[in-house]
Amino acid sequence: MDRKVRVRFAPSPTGPLHIGGVRTALYNYLFARQHGGDMILRIEDTDSQRFVPGAEEYICEALDWLGIEIDEGVGHGGNYGPYRQSERRDIYREYVKMLLDNDKAYIAFDTPEELEAARAAVPNFQYDASTRGSMRNSLTLPAEEVKRLIDEGHKYVVRFKIEPGREVEVNDLLRGKVTINSSVLDDKVLYKSADDLPTYHLANIVDDHLMEVSHVIRGEEWLPSAPLHVLLYEAFGWSDTAPQFVHLPLLLKPDGKGKLSKRDGDRLGFPVFPLLWNDPKSGETSSGYRESGYLPEAVINFLALLGWNPGDDTEIMNMDELIRRFSFDHCSRSGAKFDYEKGKWFNHKYLQELPDSELAELFKPVMKEHGVDPEAFSDEYIARAVGMVKSRINFVKDLWDHAGFFFKAPETYDAKAVKKRWSEEMPRIMAELCEVLKGLESFKSADAEPLVLGWIADKGYHLGNVMNAFRLTVVGECKGPHMFDITELMGCDETVARIKAGIDRIHPEA
Ligand code: GLU
Repeated sequence: MDRKVRVRFAPSPTGPLHIGGVRTALYNYLFARQHGGDMILRIEDTDSQRFVPGAEEYICEALDWLGIEIDEGVGHGGNYGPYRQSERRDIYREYVKMLLDNDKAYIAFDTPEELEAARAAVPNFQYDASTRGSMRNSLTLPAEEVKRLIDEGHKYVVRFKIEPGREVEVNDLLRGKVTINSSVLDDKVLYKSADDLPTYHLANIVDDHLMEVSHVIRGEEWLPSAPLHVLLYEAFGWSDTAPQFVHLPLLLKPDGKGKLSKRDGDRLGFPVFPLLWNDPKSGETSSGYRESGYLPEAVINFLALLGWNPGDDTEIMNMDELIRRFSFDHCSRSGAKFDYEKGKWFNHKYLQELPDSELAELFKPVMKEHGVDPEAFSDEYIARAVGMVKSRINFVKDLWDHAGFFFKAPETYDAKAVKKRWSEEMPRIMAELCEVLKGLESFKSADAEPLVLGWIADKGYHLGNVMNAFRLTVVGECKGPHMFDITELMGCDETVARIKAGIDRIHPEA
């Protein structure tokens, strides 16, 4: 490959970026980085009807959160700008003119009503070589008439003049050569005078050419447009530098039946968007991976493996490793099932990798949500508490269920456990336990444990009942990390205070 790798992620700001779009951006990024190439962000906003305010900002914020770095493009500058298509009207006008001048395109005046009538009259009507001769366009009208109509401000479109009966070859890196006959294509609209804007097809091709894009890596849904794009490159005389196509397989529903949609997420309870999205039109809110407690690294790793594998069974790979190992040779051609449970597993794994001090920082907002001021505890205390329970969590917010008691003494006690463990003599035994604990020289787990267990044995008490009652007073229920690790962290005063509160407050129902 002697050409510099330049790829682009080219979303249309028509709403929040779908998770499949994020994967497309990721594969572009991995490929660009691996080849020392450039990653371009181009905003394709030529469809003013579908423009949604806030969508562009959303896209940029999502890429930023995920660590998909842009070298050039909207918000990043570069030598090929502007990178927002709505700011490139002058450029497109020039290229539309070039096609018209070279007889590769023509002007069409047909009104929606006329098109409707043609569709009604001709079965399977398609605006193409077989029908264009009977429509109102610059191929059928005299030149003066065309000029007059334009001067009078009649709305028109420019259509691509597709030559029928040609074999068009699309070369896709994943799919090989796909050949289709040009007769099945219609004379696509390339430009609309109504808003003085090109359509997606023209703007996309012109920009890929001018921005010297080497590889077009995009979703499979764009494959049907590829033959048209090949013909456009040819019409412009750019075939020699046309980019290499890569059409990525679809993301499928978790059960593999059909394309993943927002509704699947709503139905099965997982986000299909990277960030929370408030739709400005409908007012509807859609959940995002970020707000649902995912680490960006976990989302990246999860997405990377939806459609690609490293050739062995390695699963945990950070961005650097993904960049090193990524290859289209190991991309699948068939759709990838969106295995949401696997996404949770990745998040679990990445949370285990975080140092306890970082996990503690992520946990602080959760503490606040539960009415606990993190400032009331040392950073070390919080870090040790989360460190003790992190193996049990998939999300940061889960830490509260497992470690909340470190920060808030129990207000209630698990009724079942009380019934089972809190015998009549338990208040007395717990009072004794307080004295034993106060008498310990060291509260370290390894020092305290044998002494307390020794006392239980000496007294002939029931080990399980005493230890569970002890746990009940400290934790509020019979679960949690090793008891003496808990008390080591809480310290003697807090432990004894909780046991005493338990003695006062735990009353088994008669
Ligand atoms: N604007 C198109 C999209 O929204 C770009 C397709 C392409 O990458 O060519 O996905």
